[in-house]
Amino acid sequence: MDQAFGSTGRADGGSAQAAAPGDAPRQAPQPLRVPGLAFDNRFARLPDGFYARVRPAPLPEPWLVAASTDAAEALGLPASAFDDPAVVDALAGNRPIDGAEPLAAVYAGHQFGVWAGRLGDGRAILLGEAIGAEGSRWELQLKGAGRTPFSRGADGRAVLRSSIREFLCSEAMHGLGIPTTRALALVASDEPVFRETVETAAVVTRMSPSFLRFGSFEYFRHFGQPERLKLLGETLLAQHYPELLGAPNPWLALLREVTERTARLVAAWQSVGFCHGVMNTDNMSALGLTIDYGPFGFLDRFDPNHVCNHSDDLGRYSYSMQPKIAEWNCWCLGDALMPLIAEAGGGVDDAKEALASFGPAFDAEYGRLMRAKLGLATERGGDDALVRATLDLLHAQRVDFTSFFRRLGSVGLAAEDIRPGAQRPGSRCRDLFVDPALFDGWAARWRARLRDEGSNDAERGRRMNRVNPKYVLRNHLAELAIRQARERDPGMVRRLLQVLRRPFDDQPEHEDLAALPPDWAAHLEVSCSS
Ligand code: AMP
Ligand code: MG
Repeated sequence: MDQAFGSTGRADGGSAQAAAPGDAPRQAPQPLRVPGLAFDNRFARLPDGFYARVRPAPLPEPWLVAASTDAAEALGLPASAFDDPAVVDALAGNRPIDGAEPLAAVYAGHQFGVWAGRLGDGRAILLGEAIGAEGSRWELQLKGAGRTPFSRGADGRAVLRSSIREFLCSEAMHGLGIPTTRALALVASDEPVFRETVETAAVVTRMSPSFLRFGSFEYFRHFGQPERLKLLGETLLAQHYPELLGAPNPWLALLREVTERTARLVAAWQSVGFCHGVMNTDNMSALGLTIDYGPFGFLDRFDPNHVCNHSDDLGRYSYSMQPKIAEWNCWCLGDALMPLIAEAGGGVDDAKEALASFGPAFDAEYGRLMRAKLGLATERGGDDALVRATLDLLHAQRVDFTSFFRRLGSVGLAAEDIRPGAQRPGSRCRDLFVDPALFDGWAARWRARLRDEGSNDAERGRRMNRVNPKYVLRNHLAELAIRQARERDPGMVRRLLQVLRRPFDDQPEHEDLAALPPDWAAHLEVSCSS
């Protein structure tokens, strides 16, 4: 079947929505012209074999849960665009958008370390490439918009629960300054969707400069389509890495660049306690972005062995495994690019050398980020050991990761807490410790290191507050938003969206969103079900 798809590029999976030649034209409503939205669909101009043309499946009576005005601005759309019910209808897949050429892209991947063969966009439909503000380009996808030839028997839908999580976390990661796909809008419907229980459907409009994944390359490599592998590689290089085109071996340069970007990305994840949950190679972006938010989680109490995905029995994707897994995934990409590397005169040893850049790139970025979290303005021997000692202590004392670093920003070199009026019981950094004497011991070492570089409390505090977020999308916050939205109240989704776009700013009216998780949060489970 994969060969057949590769050679024809047509929908071959049997789908109610796939438009095959000869289909009688359905009575589709007129395409909607969205002012400010212009398309130039470069992916849709690739020849046969990269995608199947599809049509989104309609969703009854959609309503707008939320729209990201930040994402809209990047796209060059006014926030008022979402006031138009026709736009909401279009984002639910009920109405074509003028200039869009909907398609589902093919890709493959390794899932939980095992080759999974052909996957592809089973429920995400690429509308096209929109020209955004200042000449930026954004591919727009409707995730959960119905079946495609790559749905493999599944329903092509996404439930409201997981869509809220993806919508909010995409924008929260952007707020944290971490490379990510974006989310423009979230629409919901009462259409039932069957998972462990009956839930309801939703569609997230995602945006990214490109949705190509490691698995996109693995597909053509594994199914023996060297011409397409090359064309896809050339497309990625020309559109997203033009500076590498002049390299002696552009494919080696590409492998090194993606490897280093991936390493820096995962370093950033580690520094905010983000666990992705499903680091399969089909969920690894060719641009080094965070992509595919499923059973992700932010660490509450620090535990390096934390596994956020309830379906991940062996803990393959635990917090502490993320860097190793990311590197393993880069090797899969290297394997996929090997024919191109070889054709341009490179050997296996060259590819290994490019992949070896992962460790140094990760270490350098992780070190930089962790020093900044501790308020260190310089780099000294022994800093790595201080970082390790810090994390060991947080683990041993089961301290909340986000709160610790945030509160540390107001700990002075002489006084425990230099915030004005900070003597509220339980609000100090040392109050997070079961045994505060252990904090004192650690703090003595930390203070000595800071004195050594002449650190100033006020300046350091400001600096730390710009790197240690006050607000992250903890599971229990997403859960509260989900519960409300199920009752058709979008208030909490919208409030979290607003707060999480500025996660480093104190927002006193939203203090509750920075609180430690309530007891009931301990029982929350997230899994691959979405
Ligand atoms: P994920 O684990 O969400 O990254 O998905 C892995 C693969 O399964 C991708 O090819 C998805 O498109 C596909 N997939 C996941 N859920 C569905 C669904 N409900 N319907 C169709 N395809 C799906
Ligand atoms: Mg995926």
